[in-house]
This record gives sequence, C-alpha cells and structure tokens, in this order.
Amino acid sequence: MSAEAFCGDEAPVRLTAIRLADGQKVELRPHALLRCETARIFAHWVRDDLAAAAAVFGGSIKWIGVAASYSCRPRNNISGARLSEHGRANAIDIGAVGLGDGRTIPIRGAEAPAVFIATMRQSACQRFATVLGPGSDRAHERHIHVDLASRRANFRICQWNIPDWVEP
Ligand SMILES: [Zn+2]
Repeated sequence: MSAEAFCGDEAPVRLTAIRLADGQKVELRPHALLRCETARIFAHWVRDDLAAAAAVFGGSIKWIGVAASYSCRPRNNISGARLSEHGRANAIDIGAVGLGDGRTIPIRGAEAPAVFIATMRQSACQRFATVLGPGSDRAHERHIHVDLASRRANFRICQWNIPDWVEP
C-alpha cells in the first residue's frame, strides 16, 4: 500500500499557539497540523513541563520552532520506507525554543541551558511514545521528533543523547 493511502485518515487540527497557565501565549512557528490527541499532549507538555523548566532559570517561552508536523511522506523521506507518524499527523519535530528575552535555544548547541534540555528530554520521554533527538540517527541531529505511535504493550522509544556538559 502506498503511503498516500494512509494520509488524511483523520482531519488534523491546526495548532497555532498554546496558552500558558499565566495567560501568556507560546506561538508555534510555523503552525503545526496534528491529530487532536497529539496536539493535546503536546500542548500539555509545553504548558506543564517546558514552561516550568524555563521558569527555573528565570525565562519564559515565547515560541517553538516547528521543523515538521503533518506531512504525507515515508520515514526520513526514504521512498518505500514505512509511513512516518508524520503521515498520520501524529508527530511533531522541534528545532528550537524561543525565549521571552529574545534568546533562541537550539536543540543542539552549547547555548542551550543544560537543565532546560535535560528536563525537556525527560518530560518528553514521559509523555510521548517516541522521542528521537541528537544521537539517535542522522535525521535527528538538529531537531527532536516526538510522536504518539501505538505499539504493543505501550513500548516506548527514548533516544536523545544529552552531551556530557548536561547535568540534570
Ligand atoms: Zn519527525
């Protein structure tokens, strides 16, 4: 069956921003197309985990750089590969997090506050079925991929190597 046969099964929702507990909005750049449930879990992750992690170092999150969301394509764009969770609007890739003070936290880079990245990884692996980041494969050196793939026995994949300089 071709990848296209799976795509568009479920109408995705367009997630433009997430409202935090304090009323501030976190913008998604660009907007993400996701299944309802994936959008819901993602919004909770940003609101409950990432916003709190940023607050630890006195920061606030202004925007999230979306590297990919719904996309009708096979895994890693390899033709013939199993359909990516992106084709089910069940995945989102994040390339950077923008802070209220104008700073940008890249997923990979020494500018990233260590505690923030460590918390981001830990909380993502709790909420999502799959987390692939730097160290997992070549396709994920500059962004992290999270999805809600359903697997037998709720098996989870958490592959995101945190460099040595990060001490949670
Ligand atoms: Zn991805």
